[in-house]
Amino acid sequence: MRSDTVPEQRVSPLISLPPAGMRDARPGLSGVPADELDRWLTDRGQPAYRARQLSDHVWSAAAQSSEQLSTFPQRLRSELDDTFRVTTLAQTDITAADNGLTQKALHRLDDGRLIESVLMRYPARGWRRARATVCISSQAGCAVGCPFCATGELGFGRDLDVAEMVDQVRFWRQWLAGVGQRLTNVVFMGMGEPLLNTDLVMAAAAAITDPQRFGLGARHVTISTSGVVPGMDRMTSERPQYTLAVSLHAARQELRDVLVPLNRRYPIGEVLGAADRYADATRRRVTYEYVMIDSINDTPHDADAVAELLKDRLAHVNLIPMNPVAHTPWLPSSTERTDLFAARLREAGIETTVRRNRGVDIGAACGQLAADRAGAPPPAAVARRRELLVIQSAAALGATPQAQ
Ligand code: SAH
Ligand code: SF4
Repeated sequence: MRSDTVPEQRVSPLISLPPAGMRDARPGLSGVPADELDRWLTDRGQPAYRARQLSDHVWSAAAQSSEQLSTFPQRLRSELDDTFRVTTLAQTDITAADNGLTQKALHRLDDGRLIESVLMRYPARGWRRARATVCISSQAGCAVGCPFCATGELGFGRDLDVAEMVDQVRFWRQWLAGVGQRLTNVVFMGMGEPLLNTDLVMAAAAAITDPQRFGLGARHVTISTSGVVPGMDRMTSERPQYTLAVSLHAARQELRDVLVPLNRRYPIGEVLGAADRYADATRRRVTYEYVMIDSINDTPHDADAVAELLKDRLAHVNLIPMNPVAHTPWLPSSTERTDLFAARLREAGIETTVRRNRGVDIGAACGQLAADRAGAPPPAAVARRRELLVIQSAAALGATPQAQ
């Protein structure tokens, strides 16, 4: 993370990650430019058609190991293994929930770091076609430290490289092919803050949407940010037509300072300005995500503040019930409170949807599985963290009037 974007006053992570192991020097195939691969094949005296075969294996078939490069002679496969990794995901454990409609993967990388991706399948309904959305991680851990987020609890590990991001998507393409389904959407909403790894995230998204590589439509890719203004402006200048999602979570400054610590560096007004510039450039609605936390940010007063903030903007609000995580003193809002909040926004003319939380029983909130594997933080540290959050949120709520 660049020093100019480190949020001030953030609390230190509850869990210290184990030191990472050595990196594997072989690059992941999906991150290597096509012309380099072509040269590599030519240097080995391979016929021209091998390049197309290799590209088909990597992108269309989403090969996970050199054994799956079925059209390649054995010797070439082992030469390839000496130079590249067919996948950068060293090991993957999958857990299913929602009758198999949600699948969560915990991936181990070459240096032992753990990241997560989630597959959410939505059966066809009425005129809507079936969808299969994959949520991928952009960093191991995250430096922003939102107190309701399990990834925030881990602190920052490292940026993921292009192949590590793309390989999460390729992993699910092959898995879905096994059940006769197609991957339709990719969201950068797993572990990490994508726009604090902007160069590599943009390169990964380009690979995912390149017709010669993964080939998904740009509108089917969503990048979610806690509000990194320079990264949002970079997206605007490149105009890639991705869907931009902004994690709002509070419309009132004092409360957002607590819920999204990056707000102290990039306050709501600046974030909305950057979101508007993106919406103007792409003519596409920005999604505002809002995690519903009982009696913290879900009052009618909060709904009115959100409506005031977003009126006359190209905006869509997505309300997400908070997935409970161990270190917070907070609870998810009830369905009734969430529905009332949604109704109030709609009355004010704001397009609003309520997202049903997928895979709560397998810890599908971002970072939860990796946090569980990292071990429970000391109970005294959890108690102190909870106390601090109660004090901070009470102070923030005291700063503006509350209507329950
Ligand atoms: N760092 C980026 C993207 C990853 S987080 C961001 O914050 O936007 C993706 C989404 O999951 C964010 O909207 C985040 O606020 C939400 N999220 C994190 N922890 C959650 C929890 N415990 N319950 C529900 N949503 C959560
Ligand atoms: Fe990082 Fe997003 Fe989690 Fe906040 S919600 S800690 S920005 S991953």
